[in-house]
Amino acid sequence: MCGITGYIGYRDAYPIIINGLQRLEYRGYDSAGIVLYDGKDIVLSKTKGKVSDLLERTASEISTKGNLGIGHTRWATHGVPNDVNSHPHTSASGELVIVHNGIIENYDTIKKELTNRGYSFKSDTDTEVLVNLIEEVKKQYKVKLGKAVQIALNQVIGAYAIAVFDKSKPDEIVVARLGSPIAIGIGKDKKEFFVASDASPFIEYTKDAIYLEDEEMAIIKVGKDVEIRKIHDDSLVDADVQELQMNLEQIEKSGYDHFMLKEIYEQPRAITDTYRGRLLRNEGLIKMAGVEDNMKKFLNADRIIIVACGTSWHAGLVAEYIFEEFARIPVEVEYASEFRYRNPIITEKDVLIAISQSGETADTLAAVKLAKEKGAFVFGVCNVVGSSIARETHAGAYTHAGPEIGVASTKAFTTQITVLSLMALRLSRAKGTMSSSDYRLHLQELELIPEKVERALKIDEHVKEIAKEYLLSTNCLYLGRGYNFPVALEGALKLKEISYIHAEGYPAAEMKHGPIALIDDRMPVIVIATSMGHYEKVVSNIQEIKSRKGKIIAVVTEGDVQVKEIADHVIEIPETEEAFTPLLTTIPLQLLSYHIAVMRNCNVDQPRNLAKSVTVE
Ligand code: GLU
Repeated sequence: MCGITGYIGYRDAYPIIINGLQRLEYRGYDSAGIVLYDGKDIVLSKTKGKVSDLLERTASEISTKGNLGIGHTRWATHGVPNDVNSHPHTSASGELVIVHNGIIENYDTIKKELTNRGYSFKSDTDTEVLVNLIEEVKKQYKVKLGKAVQIALNQVIGAYAIAVFDKSKPDEIVVARLGSPIAIGIGKDKKEFFVASDASPFIEYTKDAIYLEDEEMAIIKVGKDVEIRKIHDDSLVDADVQELQMNLEQIEKSGYDHFMLKEIYEQPRAITDTYRGRLLRNEGLIKMAGVEDNMKKFLNADRIIIVACGTSWHAGLVAEYIFEEFARIPVEVEYASEFRYRNPIITEKDVLIAISQSGETADTLAAVKLAKEKGAFVFGVCNVVGSSIARETHAGAYTHAGPEIGVASTKAFTTQITVLSLMALRLSRAKGTMSSSDYRLHLQELELIPEKVERALKIDEHVKEIAKEYLLSTNCLYLGRGYNFPVALEGALKLKEISYIHAEGYPAAEMKHGPIALIDDRMPVIVIATSMGHYEKVVSNIQEIKSRKGKIIAVVTEGDVQVKEIADHVIEIPETEEAFTPLLTTIPLQLLSYHIAVMRNCNVDQPRNLAKSVTVE
């Protein structure tokens, strides 16, 4: 969580850092801060609140210019969000300044030791402890900043991405990472350098970037090559300079009111990008290098274990149905946070699939490492190219959804399902578990999904009208069966995340085992009732809700007759193979949450307490 950015070079650092923080705000937004070196001294401004609050504050606090600076948008772990706990943090002498993403787990022990040595602390953060530890090491060992950072980091336990500079030697920024991402942008002729949690803050300045690996640190100096070293053994690392594929338009709202709405509308394009080059319908082929090259692992697998968190976990649940149906491989879906801590039984005949939009989700990454240690074959499904999970896994498939900035995940979900469907279809071919005609039919249907999503998006105005009736609800129930049970969970999660209305998703048939007690004339119940998804059974469930006066919003297949007669509202989606209906049924649920949240004046793109990339446990 949290966004870090920094600049060293010849330009005015302030606008670069502020714009960068705005782009990184999806990562954390309870406080923001910036520090500049103005040629003589440091100028620091930080505040509880958003980058817009920081802008107001800097208007009065920062009047000078500087060519060196670092900034931060925070997602608090240690210490409440307030001005003092905001980053950047300075060391006791005021010489060192740091921004930090992550958690220093042994901060308390270090803090006590430093306190005994006479240090005092202004904030409650673990970060202030780290910057003072670096200062203490620097003094004690009489070393330069880079060395002091290295020695200090060898004493800490936890996760971090940091950027730090020394105002008494303001010609370098030192960065380091363990568990949280950090990218370095290299300006033309090395006359300037950029630092950020992802490349978005500097894409208009350079396309050349280095992504630090875990346990690496870098010393960045104008006019010099970036010096990268392993934190634990000081060995030099060759810089792997990559060319960025991202462009500015992808990270702007392009006329939409919110990133979430833009990303909902991007789904037809995102799904197409996900299967482009992989789904070759004319040849009747699916080509996925990560699967092809490791086919034996998949075919010999006793089972597939899917680990993920949040929305990705819901995509994993959809995949469970799809893999078992298409490829007849047993699948278990696990919350990464539970899996990693419960001494799970993993063997060399297991295939573990880790799903994560950012590829940085701390618990999922830990589950990947654990499964690797136990000898399982580990496959990653990530959106962010070059992310930690993408690198840590044996093989994988990117979703190619493009940057997802809205904190509530939308296009990541549908593209994850697309990748997993492609994998299941490919495996069904290899295993012979699906007939040729069914296989071809599924390829054809999957190819048509983007066009059908486009059609499903046309119900937006209708969904907005429905949203008006329910914006004051305090509770909401989502029901679905089979492939659409996970969609019910996802629909409920979307509503909770952005509108703060309590919502629960349930398998439709489970309703009578508890949730039915909640139903009265104020309870909206969103029911997914696609024509081939145990339709008659779901219709009976709808009748049960109706008898108890619940308000029914039904998502049905185009041309439905029966549900229309009972439900209060009906939203139609195009017909497709039942296994692919989640790609369509999820669209109205995303739109419903979006409109309700907007009408309730909630901050759709930055819902309270959440952050996009969950790099802490
Ligand atoms: N642990 C630090 C804090 O609470 C950094 C949190 C973050 O990643 O934003 O301030």
